[in-house]
Amino acid sequence: MKLNKLTVEEKHVILDKGTEAPFSGEYDDFYKDGIYVCRQCGNHLFTSKAKFNANCGWPSFDDYFSGAVKRLPDVDGVRTEIICAKCLGHLGHVFEGEKFTPKNTRHCVNSLSIKFVPSELSHLSLRGTKRRGNLIKDSHARSSTSLGMTGGKNGKRYPNSDFWRGFYWIDFVLLARTIFFLLSSDRSLFSLISVNCASTTF
Ligand SMILES: [Zn+2]
Repeated sequence: MKLNKLTVEEKHVILDKGTEAPFSGEYDDFYKDGIYVCRQCGNHLFTSKAKFNANCGWPSFDDYFSGAVKRLPDVDGVRTEIICAKCLGHLGHVFEGEKFTPKNTRHCVNSLSIKFVPSELSHLSLRGTKRRGNLIKDSHARSSTSLGMTGGKNGKRYPNSDFWRGFYWIDFVLLARTIFFLLSSDRSLFSLISVNCASTTF
């Protein structure tokens, strides 16, 4: 597993399970389209569609990519810690029953633990992902096409838009060839169309 080099602040949060100051993180008040990956290992963790404003001082998500996040009892004996399932880096804590969203779950995450990838780039990033376990499990993310793939209940993958674009080109070429063939092989048809066009105009 390739791990990114961390700054002193990132190490404090990710490795030493520290907490950044509330309302200080770059993603606290940030709502662009894309995905959030683990800052240490690049694991796809959350989609921007699961992000909501809990006004608690840290980025909040009500869902995550299936299998990407693990829960552990916090050493304080009260809270539940969340970590990256791949590199085990500290992310934050999870809280339930607060009724912020219909999912009733708030993954309270340090901005220093995650990295935002815009939707244009996350599309490429996800297409390159071979792991089946990294499909989105929540329903609103399932309906998203901006991510270039969908994960149903069975974890099915569907062709992305690049696949269908080829057919549009084939159709266009066939249509152009047909028109050219009709016009060049049948002069009477060509003149018929011309007459029709002319009579329509006048
Ligand atoms: Zn990680």
